[in-house]
Amino acid sequence: MRNYSQLRIILICSMQHLTRDEIRQSLTACGLKATHQRIVVLEAVAELHGSHPTAEDVFQRLRPANPTISLGTVYKTLDTFTETGMLRRVVSEGGSKRYDSNTMTHSHIYCSKTKEIVDFEDKELEQLLIRFFSERQVDNFEIKGFSIQVTGCKLDPDKKISITKVSK
Ligand SMILES: [Zn+2]
Repeated sequence: MRNYSQLRIILICSMQHLTRDEIRQSLTACGLKATHQRIVVLEAVAELHGSHPTAEDVFQRLRPANPTISLGTVYKTLDTFTETGMLRRVVSEGGSKRYDSNTMTHSHIYCSKTKEIVDFEDKELEQLLIRFFSERQVDNFEIKGFSIQVTGCKLDPDKKISITKVSK
């Protein structure tokens, strides 16, 4: 049996390729009973990995094979996963709650036109923020991490959003 942190890394890195057994193990490692509902919700989240789905998206994904599961159950299950740290919540424009299976430190690029959310991770930016806040005092607050959401509009709807460092 792998330990919790190893399973979390497996969960994040190979979310799309998890077997039912690995999903069961991940739930148990997070202290959750591996019920049928939790398994199918986590399977749907795994299939939608990278798209930062809403509860509705997850519900639509699992519904054809699981017609008895309600949207309310999906909401409740996603909230349980968030509380145990298996998922993280991402709030997009308009306040719609979305879920992120990548729980490692990273930031987002959000397109207000297409509602796409793309992950990005930049050690340089993280170091810059750490330096910035080490030179300032935030009263009555302990900083535990950084996450930036860059908001804008996709210029070509047919192309993917990507971030590239331009050398100067
Ligand atoms: Zn993300």
